[in-house]
Amino acid sequence: MKPGTPRHEPDGEYDVLLTIARADFGSFIIQHYIRSLTWVVASHVAIVILLGSVWIRVGSDLGYSFVSALAGIGWSALGFVCIIPVHEAVHGAVYWVLGAKDIRYGISIRNMYAFAIAHMHVVSARELVWVGIAPFLVLTSLLTGCVAVLPEASFIFVGTIVLHTLGCAGDWTMLNYLWLNRKKELYMYDDADEGVMTYLAIRERER
Ligand SMILES: [Zn+2]
Repeated sequence: MKPGTPRHEPDGEYDVLLTIARADFGSFIIQHYIRSLTWVVASHVAIVILLGSVWIRVGSDLGYSFVSALAGIGWSALGFVCIIPVHEAVHGAVYWVLGAKDIRYGISIRNMYAFAIAHMHVVSARELVWVGIAPFLVLTSLLTGCVAVLPEASFIFVGTIVLHTLGCAGDWTMLNYLWLNRKKELYMYDDADEGVMTYLAIRERER
């Protein structure tokens, strides 16, 4: 059963598996992405390499010089920064669909990331998969649509897809954490006031 009211202390029915301060999100990525290579991480790396190859191919097909490629990369980087709010809005929209009432957004300049969180709203692992993957699916589709509409700017749009996919590493880390703990009945909630996210696991009944 889904834990109804989030508490910081385990109440006998579930255990706190992990608490991460937002400020320490970098170490979460190091621990559960870089040091925990699974097919989830490998698929992210493979998608980035594949998209990166497409990017280079598009530049060469368009006959880009080194200087025009550099300018294109600059525009792609700008495009990436511009779509960050959309990325977070998609996370927020999924939380909203899942019934979250208090959805908050923020950025951490020091840790170089933006976030959308559902304050004190418990989500299951299955729900969290959708929260995590939705921005990648939505923005990759939207930007692919842009390539179709404006093929002459395809280098910039493909570049934005590449940078955005790279930027999804934090979301992929969360997906990998869910995969690593797939045998457990896992839940997560964010405490926006404390700046902490908590993963809970239902304690298995003793037989
Ligand atoms: Zn994200």
